[in-house]
Amino acid sequence: FRHGEPSDVIVSTPNGPVHFGEGHPVVLIAGPCSVENEEMIVETAKRVKAAGAKFLRGGAYKPRTSPYAFQGHGESALNLLAAARAATGLGIVTEIMDTADLDAVAGVADIVQIGARNMQNFALLKKVGAQDKPILLKRGMSATIDEWLMAAEYLLAAGNPNVILCERGIRTFDAKYARNTLDLSVIPVLRSLTHLPITIDPSHGTGKSEYVPPMALGAIAAGTDALMIEVHPNPAKALSDGPQSLTFDSFDSLVREMAVIGKAV
Ligand code: PEP
Ligand code: MN
Repeated sequence: FRHGEPSDVIVSTPNGPVHFGEGHPVVLIAGPCSVENEEMIVETAKRVKAAGAKFLRGGAYKPRTSPYAFQGHGESALNLLAAARAATGLGIVTEIMDTADLDAVAGVADIVQIGARNMQNFALLKKVGAQDKPILLKRGMSATIDEWLMAAEYLLAAGNPNVILCERGIRTFDAKYARNTLDLSVIPVLRSLTHLPITIDPSHGTGKSEYVPPMALGAIAAGTDALMIEVHPNPAKALSDGPQSLTFDSFDSLVREMAVIGKAV
């Protein structure tokens, strides 16, 4: 692994550069699980921007457990993300699943996301690591920290130094109340092992919207560099991950609580 002092990853967005790293405000990445239509993605972008988010997230290509579940709108959703980017200046974070889509995804994304299920898709890692956009690498749901860091090493070895790690919850023996076990202990552990910045995703980490604010605040207390939070205009009607998505109002109040603990975004 590459040891050393934590180093910033600086991501350019239409609104200016955003620093992921110590000494900078916690970066908020927010938006729906899936891009559903133009109205919802542009409205969400405006609302999360007003709250303080620097990036809009939204899936165009969705890794769904069931082949019959909504798979994402694909390339047309990328165009909608581009529209939301143009309307707000927010950076875009969206997932790549297939190397065949890399040019299209990297053409719109300011950060290319590699999802938990693809953390050890080495062919994908090599291709994404060889392009220039910064990369958000999610931890596989059953990956050890060493496996996660070796996956990051694939990206670095392919030539891309701008890698951000994202903890999104792991499988443990108890999944009765929370979808995953959000491993906040990775924050101090990773600080001792790597210079790469850290994002925490309490939405996939817990699977329930009411658990998201306490875990987001806990992640800030533990020193995360960024948070990725699912926000939807009408979670009950979301095409994916509605139960874990915050409403605009609950996202607003979470950001106010962050300011109270001294980490204004
Ligand atoms: C997502 O961010 O919508 C997603 C599918 O996340 P994960 O890969 O962590 O399950
Ligand atoms: Mn999701």
